[in-house]
Amino acid sequence: MCGPVDVHDTFGRPLRNLRLSVTDRCNLRCAYCMPEEDYVWLPRADILDFEEIARIVDAFTDCGVERVRLTGGEPLLRRELPELVRLLAAKPALRETALTTNGILLAELAADLQAAGLTRVTVSLDTLRPATFRVLARRDGLERVIAGLQAARQVGFIGTKLDSVVLRGTNDDEIVSLLQFAREIDAELRFIEYMDVGGATQWSPTHVVPRAEILERVASAFGTPVPVAGDGSAPAERFLLPDGTTFGIIASTTRPFCGACDRGRLTADGRWLTCLYATHGRDLRGPLRAGATRAELAALIRGDWGARADRGAEERLAAHARGAFADREALRSNPHLEMHTRGG
Ligand code: SAM
Ligand code: SF4
Ligand code: SF4
Repeated sequence: MCGPVDVHDTFGRPLRNLRLSVTDRCNLRCAYCMPEEDYVWLPRADILDFEEIARIVDAFTDCGVERVRLTGGEPLLRRELPELVRLLAAKPALRETALTTNGILLAELAADLQAAGLTRVTVSLDTLRPATFRVLARRDGLERVIAGLQAARQVGFIGTKLDSVVLRGTNDDEIVSLLQFAREIDAELRFIEYMDVGGATQWSPTHVVPRAEILERVASAFGTPVPVAGDGSAPAERFLLPDGTTFGIIASTTRPFCGACDRGRLTADGRWLTCLYATHGRDLRGPLRAGATRAELAALIRGDWGARADRGAEERLAAHARGAFADREALRSNPHLEMHTRGG
């Protein structure tokens, strides 16, 4: 085993956070993430089992990773997920094992996840109107998400976050009500700018509600938001309102934060991506199943991160005629490009 040896990329950014996708399947079909009718799914035999995931995570912690976030697809669709949480939470090198979920199955699983040692939950919730939920998620389920949030609170999760992607003409009139709702349930809301990434084949700049406009709308309802110092590498800029409420904005589209990005991604079938916009990734499943040791896996990870020069969102911002990053055909021939495969 190699001890934890920090690795820095070509811009001096360390590797601290790993977004770990545990499945590419989902029980919703959000219009900004999975707009098409059918998808090419990862073969089941390729999906890493929990013991394999734990071994790969060990190699990542040897390279400096301190926080893991379980994602997907919808991570709560992965059977026995609390068991994986238990394995990860027991690792002394990990300061945090968190989860991003659409909340549909959270009411059933919150107690087990809490007991297993999950640190924190982020729930994606874009609307408080059932009809808008149906338009955005292309399924029903708002009541279940709300029940999931209540259950998370009841079993004792603190520091819960709500993530809302804001789409012009669909839910941008809910900026104020979402913020009020988050305050009522002791959660911190983060507004996310609509990104052109992965399955967002219908993305257009006209549907993006930029950070500046979100701030204006919040200010006119609640008073001027004041920036709060953050940890520098977190994707959300945080703000404080005069009544003490805090909220965040993840402005990946109009104000990318690549300069401080310390995040890597692992797909459910073991593909290691150094950027959300990466078009290629390294297969770690192959070496793992061929018997690579922890040190050998760590050396592969360290080599890729050391060579990293990614700043995908900044490059997209600089692009002249901006449209969707990948079209339907590209996504069908390479499902690893999908947001629901790379974990958001
Ligand atoms: N299914 C889980 C969920 O929705 O929370 C986890 C996976 S999902 C891919 C992770 C996050 O990506 C969600 O908060 C979702 O809103 C966000 N997301 C997906 N497509 C997006 C897009 N085009 N622009 C901005 N955020 C997006
Ligand atoms: Fe929606 Fe998350 Fe499923 Fe994408 S992966 S369709 S964002 S619930
Ligand atoms: Fe990091 Fe790539 Fe996202 Fe920029 S686009 S913040 S480099 S993952």
